[in-house]
Amino acid sequence: MCHPAIVPIVAVFRDTHKGSVMLQMPFYPYGQVDEWVKSSAPGWMAVRAVLQDITGALAHLHMNQIVHSDIKPPNILVGPRERGKLADFDISVASETRTTQQYLVTTRVRVGWTANFEAPELPQTGSTAASDMFALGRTVAELLEACTDADGASSRGDVDEFVRVLTADSAEDRPSADAAAAHVFFKPLLAFRVEQASVCCIGAFCAGVVRHSDGAVCGEGHLTCRKCLEGFALSCAGEGLGLRREHEGRVCCPNSRGELGCTATPFSDGELGQILSASVFDGYVKGRMQVLESRVREAVEQEAERRLQAELRRLVEMDEAQRKVHPLSFIPRPVYNLQPNP
Ligand SMILES: [Zn+2]
Ligand SMILES: [Zn+2]
Repeated sequence: MCHPAIVPIVAVFRDTHKGSVMLQMPFYPYGQVDEWVKSSAPGWMAVRAVLQDITGALAHLHMNQIVHSDIKPPNILVGPRERGKLADFDISVASETRTTQQYLVTTRVRVGWTANFEAPELPQTGSTAASDMFALGRTVAELLEACTDADGASSRGDVDEFVRVLTADSAEDRPSADAAAAHVFFKPLLAFRVEQASVCCIGAFCAGVVRHSDGAVCGEGHLTCRKCLEGFALSCAGEGLGLRREHEGRVCCPNSRGELGCTATPFSDGELGQILSASVFDGYVKGRMQVLESRVREAVEQEAERRLQAELRRLVEMDEAQRKVHPLSFIPRPVYNLQPNP
């Protein structure tokens, strides 16, 4: 499930003893939205922007007939540029399978639907897109309460209205995720997103302060403007293959080179695709392919060497008796036992 507001799964591990599956997800420095609200005290508008991302992610899931079934603040992470990321897919299911009694029982046992976020019809229907929307409404209410500057918000009426429709008792009265994304609750964000600005960490091709929409921000919050990032990506692509292989050909935060020693994960292909010009992005992709091809070649060579070594060992270990092939046993033996003299 690929969406900018859905936490991507980096790797899947299967525990063969317990039969369970573990998912590895990227690390987000701001963490859970509820903890972020507590520790960083972001403005209500920034929290609202995170909720907008999550609503978009839900619309994407529901469009693909997937129900998240455990929407709540701890399952919402805050990523680079304070963007919302929907996480915890261990109980997301295709909607055809969700209502079976078996699933209902295991879900209850495993996660015990967080009480406050449980739609009233849930015991009868199991998780549905509408119960996701109910849980989203509760999430909005909870974050509103935790947010210190929310009370003074001029559009408080819109906020209360948004929570009211999402948490309607009847599932039919709740808006779809698509409709919710278009709710007036999110309207002030358009201006907010354009206004966010920081100082570019390179500052070679810009006047310094740049809007976030005109650059890329790493996981540690360093902004690089579009122009500077293009120059940086070009210089990264021009480096030797050995150096580029260290990061799989990816572009890291420019501050990873300097004194700050930023350790944020490299920019994703998707992020760079949005920000770089077509020609620079094309060069970046070609460079990445070159790195990956060299990795494949190396892996193939290693595998071939491993096989040759194993074959060599087998020949060395073969005892004298085995080596002396009797003429009569010549025909029925498999070919691999018939090694010519070295
Ligand atoms: Zn710049
Ligand atoms: Zn950084």
